[in-house]
Amino acid sequence: MVIVMRENATEQQIQDVTSKLHEFGLNVHKVVGTQRTILGAIGDVSNVDHRAFKLMDGVFEVHRISEPYKLAGRIFHAEDTIIRVGDAVFGGNEVTVIAGPCSIESAEQLLTIAKAVKAAGAKVLRGGAFKPRTSPYAFQGLGVDGLKLLKEVSIECKIPTVSEVMRESQLDLVAEYVDILQVGARNMQNFPLLIEIGKTRKPVLLKRGMSARIEELLMAAEYIMAGGNYQIILCERGIRTFENYTRNTLDLSAIPVVKKLSHLPIIADPSHGTGLRNKVAPMARAAVAAGADGLLIEVHHDPEHALSDGPQSLLPQQFVSLMEQVRMIASAIGRKIE
Ligand code: PEP
Ligand code: MN
Repeated sequence: MVIVMRENATEQQIQDVTSKLHEFGLNVHKVVGTQRTILGAIGDVSNVDHRAFKLMDGVFEVHRISEPYKLAGRIFHAEDTIIRVGDAVFGGNEVTVIAGPCSIESAEQLLTIAKAVKAAGAKVLRGGAFKPRTSPYAFQGLGVDGLKLLKEVSIECKIPTVSEVMRESQLDLVAEYVDILQVGARNMQNFPLLIEIGKTRKPVLLKRGMSARIEELLMAAEYIMAGGNYQIILCERGIRTFENYTRNTLDLSAIPVVKKLSHLPIIADPSHGTGLRNKVAPMARAAVAAGADGLLIEVHHDPEHALSDGPQSLLPQQFVSLMEQVRMIASAIGRKIE
């Protein structure tokens, strides 16, 4: 942390800031310039709230120079993390696609979609059993019956699965049936849930909260990693902005930003990111071009009658052509989609 004092800061004010830094157990490196004095704090600042210094008399500005996410950041872990789930690889050179319906609705629905997405090249099947719905009157998911269907289809189609866990009390149950635990956007900062997931050794798909900054996403990953679970796939799924033509604004710039700051893989979800079927393919192509390690795409064979997110679900045939397009883009940037 670096504290820049005001030009007219008094010796007493500089001394007060220095003493407060010492109280935190920090050493102080003082640089006296012609205009200003700068105090460099040396030591562990992870428990120091830099705002306390901003409020002190004579202080001009305070800069943090180390990132608070030690495990998720690249500083202590320069190489990309690679997560393998069955045949699916997240991170490294591959671009891996997760696809399936928003909600698991029936055995027939799930099997039809699973066969279609697998044939087109999806490596992981998604399907919600516990659904976080804005309305308490909307379809809430099939619960454990949905998880059982997901497991059956996973075995039949030989494809690993991901499904959302909404609360701590469901964790053991969901973990029993799926290969990857999904933390939804609305739960990205459910810290008790993150802590419990950190105790498991299951790969996690951690979706960015709709109002979360990139640093908050990385700190959410840090919560899970602090418990010893390092297998985290981050997901950009759109954030709230003033624009309401699309459901959310898919923040594509988050992809290169995260790739620089963190070694964890990051995928993009243009389905929730746009909320509109005809915007999914363009944003999927852009996400792969921007360096995403994968995609999450909602697919439904009868979206008109889907119990959730029909308008953003691709028809199987549309998913096939999306896969063809993103394959070309991946190869143009030296990556591959198996
Ligand atoms: C989902 O993937 O099913 C979902 C609900 O997404 P999000 O948490 O990003 O809204
Ligand atoms: Mn959905």
